[in-house]
Amino acid sequence: MPDMLTARKTFAKAAHKQTPFEEVNWHLAKAFERLNIPPVYRDVMSNCYRELKVQIMLHRDNGDVAELVGYRIQHNGVRGPYKGGVRFHPSVDLDEIRALASLMTWKTAIVNIPFGGAKGGLCCDPKQLSERELQNLTRAYTRKIDMCLGPYRDIPAPDMNTNAKIMAWMMDEYGRRHGFSPAVVTGKPVELGGSKGREHATGLGVFYVAQEVAKNCGLKLDGARVVVQGFGNVGAWTCHFLSKAGAKIIAIADALGATYNSKGLNIDELKVHMRNHAGISDFQGGESIAGGKIFEIPCDIVVPAALEDVITPEVARKMDCKIVLEGANNPTLPEGDEILRERGIVIVPDILANAGGVTASYFEWTQNLTQFFWEESEVHAKLEKIMKRAYQEVSDISTKEKVDLRQAAFMLGVKRVYDATLLRGV
Ligand code: NAD
Repeated sequence: MPDMLTARKTFAKAAHKQTPFEEVNWHLAKAFERLNIPPVYRDVMSNCYRELKVQIMLHRDNGDVAELVGYRIQHNGVRGPYKGGVRFHPSVDLDEIRALASLMTWKTAIVNIPFGGAKGGLCCDPKQLSERELQNLTRAYTRKIDMCLGPYRDIPAPDMNTNAKIMAWMMDEYGRRHGFSPAVVTGKPVELGGSKGREHATGLGVFYVAQEVAKNCGLKLDGARVVVQGFGNVGAWTCHFLSKAGAKIIAIADALGATYNSKGLNIDELKVHMRNHAGISDFQGGESIAGGKIFEIPCDIVVPAALEDVITPEVARKMDCKIVLEGANNPTLPEGDEILRERGIVIVPDILANAGGVTASYFEWTQNLTQFFWEESEVHAKLEKIMKRAYQEVSDISTKEKVDLRQAAFMLGVKRVYDATLLRGV
C-alpha cells in the first residue's frame, strides 16, 4: 500500500501536473525574467551540474537480496562546495532529488553561506530495515557516491528519515578511504564533531523568521494560534520555540493522525508522549482529529513541516490563516501559491524559512575544519543574526520590487549565484 507521498506523486504524473523540479524552475523563471538574466545563464542555473545514480545490493538479514537505487545530485557549486541532505524514503526519485538540490542552491545563497546546492536520496523504506541492514545500506550508499564527496567538494547532512547516527556511519565509511574527515558530513552526533545546537537549528530558524514576519504583519506571537503539519525534527522544534514564546499550538498532524486543543497543546507533554507512542493522535492533552483537515482549522500561522506538495489549490482555497511558514521543502504547489497570494495570505518560502538547518551545518563544518568548538549560545546568536538578516533582505526586495516573499527570495538567491558565476569567469 503506497503512502500519501508516493500516491500523490503517482497522481501528479498521471494528471500531467508539474513535477517538483518543474515547480522549482517555474519560480526560478520568474526571477530570471525580473532580473533580466541572459538565456544561457538561465539554463545553467536551472539545470543540475552533476547527477549520479547508483545501484545498491542490500543483503537482508533473512538471506534475501534486494536491489535499491540511490542518487546524489549536485545542482550548482559556484558559491562553494555542494551541500545538501540525504533522504531515505520509498518515494525518492530523480526528479524529486533534482528539485531539492536546486532549492539548496537558492537557500545557501539567500542566507549567504559559502555553499552550493546538492541533495541525495535512497529509494527505500527504512522502517522495514533492521539496524544492521540500515547501517550496511548507508555504508554501501556512501561508498557508491564517494567519488563526488569531500569536505571541500560535497557535504551531505540529514533529511527525511536520516539522522545523526546515519551521518556518523557516513563519516566513518568515508574516513576508511580518506582518513579522519569530520567535515565531510554535518548533522553528526556532538561526540563525533557535531555542532551544539544543530539538532534544533531548523526549528529555531523557523522561529526567528516567525518573529520577524509576525512583526511585519502586526501580529503578536504571544497568544498567536498556530497549526503545524509534522512533528519530526522541524515540526517538533518549531512547536517548542513558538510555544516558549507564548504562541498557542492548537493543532498538529503527523503521519498517523492529528491532535487539537483550542487552548493550546502542551508541547513538553507531547514530546514525552511521543517517546512511548507511534503517533500523536492518542495524546491525552488534545482531541483526536482527522489529519487531512489540519490546514482548514482557523488560526494565525500554519507551518507545513512534513511533506511536499500538500498545499494544493483545493487546500489553499480552504485555508483560514494570515501566514504560512514553510518548514518543509516544497510544500506548496505553484497553483496553491497563487491562490494564497490572491487571498492575501503571506507565505514565507522554504528557501528562507527552513534555512536554519543548513546555516547550522555551515557552523558545524567551520568548527570541524578549525577543530575549535563553539558553545550553544554562540550558535544561537549567530543563527539569529543570519536568519533575521536574510529575512530583512528578502523583505526589502519584496517591498521595493512589489513581489511576494517567494519571488523576492528567489531574486536574492539568483542574483548572488549569477554574480558569482560571472566573477568566476565560468
Ligand atoms: P522527520 O522525518 O523528522 O519528520 C517528518 C514528520 O512528518 C513526522 O512527524 C511524520 O509523522 C510527519 N508526516 C509524514 N507523513 C505525514 C502525513 N501524511 N501527514 C502529516 N504528517 C506526516 O523529517 P524532518 O527532518 O522534520 O523534515 C520535514 C521536512 O522539512 C522535509 O520536507 C525536509 O526536507 C524539510 N527540512 C528538514 C530539515 C532538517 O534539518 N531536518 C531542514 C530543512 C528542511
